Amino acid sequence: MIYLDNNATTFPVPGLAELMAPYLTSQFGNPSSATYSLGKHAKNAIEKARISLAELIDADPEEIVFTSGGTEAIAMSFMGLCPFMKEGEVIFQSGVEHPAVRESIRFVTNLFSIDSIELENSKTDYFRLPVENETIARARIISAMSVNNETGVIHPVKEIAQFALENNLIFHMDGVQAVGKMPLSFKNSGADLMCLSGHKFGAPKGIGALVMKGGLSWISPSGGGGQEKGRRGGTESVPLIVALGEAARVAKLKLNEGESERLGTLRDRFEELLCNSTPKIEIIGKQLNRISNTSMILASGIVGSELVEALGEKELYISAGSACKTKSFAPSHVLSNMGYSPGECVSALRISFGSLNTLEEAEKAAFILSEEIKNNRSRKITELQSLY
Ligand code: PLP
Repeated sequence: MIYLDNNATTFPVPGLAELMAPYLTSQFGNPSSATYSLGKHAKNAIEKARISLAELIDADPEEIVFTSGGTEAIAMSFMGLCPFMKEGEVIFQSGVEHPAVRESIRFVTNLFSIDSIELENSKTDYFRLPVENETIARARIISAMSVNNETGVIHPVKEIAQFALENNLIFHMDGVQAVGKMPLSFKNSGADLMCLSGHKFGAPKGIGALVMKGGLSWISPSGGGGQEKGRRGGTESVPLIVALGEAARVAKLKLNEGESERLGTLRDRFEELLCNSTPKIEIIGKQLNRISNTSMILASGIVGSELVEALGEKELYISAGSACKTKSFAPSHVLSNMGYSPGECVSALRISFGSLNTLEEAEKAAFILSEEIKNNRSRKITELQSLY
């Protein structure tokens, strides 16, 4: 098997099951019952994981709120910020945000009678920051992802943060595809809130975090029993938080050892081999700054989802777009908003490398994919000829 769908999810880092096991057996205490040792042990495990995550993202541990994943952290951001917005005020969002952001914004704009404006993206640029003074004056939040999950394009976070600062906006950053895969400092990013998801960098699914600067006008949408300093109610999942802490520790170690550069070597070799052996391949965002593990290509004349299924039978796992979209034929909003036609969107394939992949796998995958694309194209031509 060659698994090249690491933007969908990653292989859990080794040893997680053993680390989690005590919290699923003898150390089952509730961290809120820290008046006795069983509860204290659970509480300490959570705080240790918080420090480990804080070290990975260069944040203050106090700024971290554990959540069930990226989607919940994103929803909590907007649900907590928008009660402070007045009717008619505006949220800016880039045109390539993940559905977790788009749907959260859609929800709050309806609920609070506020507006949202999508910033214009293109094939050759990240997005255009707003220029109209009247609209900027009505804006309160700008939301932009650090790395796009489909194309791997890295947004110019510093520039967005500067724009937010100059215009007194809150900067919400979806960091799900960046955290653990490339060096990232929450402190230096200029973001006010950042969301992350453990399963994108070796933790299990169902655990993530909202990272938030202090002093924001934000109210918890889920106060509950006051856990996470009143920011996210609900008894914490100690085993998952422990696993997240370990995945963060391993990710930091690997990044320090040059993992990001190693993945770049794999990705670049893959693209070189594929383009040299296959006509009519376009690499999306090639001229833009991209995260080193991701390659999104357009293979003219093929249907991405068909190809992904055929490759799956050969145990080469890639994606036809983001994981949530692979079952639908609707063209990706990311590519549409970058200016690609529906026909081009349908031919998109995403290949994303992860820490278990080797150079040999990258080379083998380029060969298998090239053959499959060529076979698929010639099958289509034969089918067409048979109609005449
Ligand atoms: N944001 C981005 C950019 C993502 O890629 C994803 C998941 O694919 C999410 C948010 C949602 O994260 P989660 O799966 O943890 O809910």
